[in-house]
Amino acid sequence: MQERILVAEHSKRPKGVEITLMCSSGCGTEVSREREYWREGEYWVLESLAQAAYDVRCESCAERKIEIERRARELTSVTPASWFDPAYAGEAWGEDNY
Ligand SMILES: [Zn+2]
Repeated sequence: MQERILVAEHSKRPKGVEITLMCSSGCGTEVSREREYWREGEYWVLESLAQAAYDVRCESCAERKIEIERRARELTSVTPASWFDPAYAGEAWGEDNY
């Protein structure tokens, strides 16, 4: 459920609410996150708890996810990755090798 505050009573954006959630990767780490208000017509609407809890990751899980995505981009790239050595691999980096 969303909480609404009349904009007229709060011309400035109200301060968010700090909550503690579990990392969504399931590592068991608690993550603090601020639930934020945004403006919807005449109201400041507080981000729902479900929205705030969506894809919450602790720092190390977030870094791991970025690293996996970077690696996936590198491997599917047309240009050879910086670590690719054709002499060592005995093959070329190209579409035929996907
Ligand atoms: Zn985590």
